[in-house]
Parts: sequence; C-alpha cells; structure tokens
Amino acid sequence: MKRKLLIGSANGNKARELAELVADLPWTVLSLRDLPEVDAPEETGATFAENAELKARYYGDKFDMACIADDSGLLVDFLNGAPGVLSARYAGEDADDSANNQKLLEALEESLWHERTARFVCCAAFYQPGGEVHLETGEVRGHISVAPFGSNGFGYDSLFVPDGHEITFAEMSASEKHIISHRGRAFAKMRAWLETCA
Ligand code: IMP
Repeated sequence: MKRKLLIGSANGNKARELAELVADLPWTVLSLRDLPEVDAPEETGATFAENAELKARYYGDKFDMACIADDSGLLVDFLNGAPGVLSARYAGEDADDSANNQKLLEALEESLWHERTARFVCCAAFYQPGGEVHLETGEVRGHISVAPFGSNGFGYDSLFVPDGHEITFAEMSASEKHIISHRGRAFAKMRAWLETCA
C-alpha cells in the first residue's frame, strides 16, 4: 500500500509546484485542500531551513502524516540579500506578488544591469511524526529584469532571468522551470533521498 505524503504549503501555487515535483514517487500525495482547514503556522525562523522544518513538523504532527514542506525566497545582491526570508512579505504583511515585484523594481532603480544579480534559494524539509527531519537545499542564480515579462508561475517569476537564459521564469513552462529552479533542484535531491527510504 502506498504511504501518504502531505504537501505542507498553504500557498496554492507553490503547493501545485511541490505536488508536481513528487507526483511520480510511490507515495499518495495529499495537499492541505484535501484535509480539514487549519491555521498556517507563523514563520518565525531566521533561516529558510528553520522555516521549512517548522512547517513540515507543524503540518505533519497536526495530521499525523509524513509531510514535506519548503521555505524559499529571493536574495538580491544589490540589496545585501533582501528580501530573503521575508520574500513573501517584502512590501508588507498582506502584500501580494504584484506589490512585492513593484517594490523590488523600485529598490533597483539606481542599479546597473551587472549589479542586478540575484539567486533563489529553496530549503525542503521532510518529516515523519516520531522521526527525524531531513533537509535538502537548492539554488539558482540569475538577474532581475528591468520590467516584468511573462505570466506563468508566481511570486517574482516575471522578474527573474536565470543564468544561461534570456527569458524570465514566468516565460517558461512549468517543466522548463522545474529543471533549473531552486525548488526543482532541492526536490531532485529530496526525491533521491525519499527513493532510498520508500
Ligand atoms: P514561502 O512560502 O515562505 O517559502 O515564501 C516564498 C516567497 O518567495 C514567495 O511568496 C515568493 O515571493 C518568493 N519565491 C519563492 N520561490 C519562488 C519562485 O519559484 N518563483 C517566484 N517567487 C518565488
């Protein structure tokens, strides 16, 4: 019988990406939408790893199920690593993607192209109630464009041009993005580890 694996993300777009990344594993994948509604945990960690672990433990214990969660964000060199762990809330507590993107473009107004380097980082955490947490990290380097391009994906996708490409993540298909993205890379490592313990 297949074991159940809960995707511990309240962000619908991200939960969809995570589910795609583990879809062909020998686990039955559930999202929070398949379960009774619970409050999201407060992301109080100082690092991506702390927040990923906190989310995996919270949802795993709540539903007594193996759980995978991630924490991720964008680190812009010109801004000394901001927005970082605050990426989802860069323009304020209830900010949406477009407000965050607008704030980022304004913050980089005085920068030159070669100063607009950035990287996405993702830390993925797997937790099984009663067991240890297993962490994997992935990252992708690139540039922040001068205006948004494309409409796929979410968050800062329309502003991020990965190294070796001339289009943003939002101009790529989901499968093209997964191959090179921070989340795709963290989950490729996590999948390899999960296969060893399936
Ligand atoms: P989290 O849900 O706390 O991990 O927040 C991550 C935030 O970082 C998202 O809300 C986005 O703003 C940003 N982010 C993380 N990964 C991506 C991505 O793949 N594309 C675009 N933005 C991302």
